Amino acid sequence: MGECVFCKIASGEIPAKLLYQDDEFVAFADINPQAPVHLLVIPRTHYANIVEAQKADASLGGRMLSVVTRLAEEQGLSGQGFRVVCNTGNNGGQTVGHLHFHVLGGRFMSWPPG
Ligand code: 5GP
Ligand code: ZN
Repeated sequence: MGECVFCKIASGEIPAKLLYQDDEFVAFADINPQAPVHLLVIPRTHYANIVEAQKADASLGGRMLSVVTRLAEEQGLSGQGFRVVCNTGNNGGQTVGHLHFHVLGGRFMSWPPG
């Protein structure tokens, strides 16, 4: 996956503001934040989206959500609330083809999305 920007962030080839990393996952600040806190959590392994990831590793999403909730608590989001988003495919508005969970918080967010 030589041209994947998130693979390059995971490997350190492209810099990012890293907030968490372990053997499996990396979390970093979104380059174009849509809220006071806007993080992305990715697996180091390249999966195009959540469907491909879950086919390959059925418990991956749960482990990713453990990282998400840990970060939300660390960032002080769990009291006021926050949003976890996994845009998938064209209709889902996915622009980077490497699975990622957005974690957004620090302001009220309306619903439904546009
Ligand atoms: P998507 O639209 O696929 O759900 O989300 C992709 C996200 O990745 C966007 O919020 C975008 O701002 C972020 N992003 C794209 N390229 C980079 C980058 O090089 N560095 C960082 N930190 N975020 C990026
Ligand atoms: Zn990738």
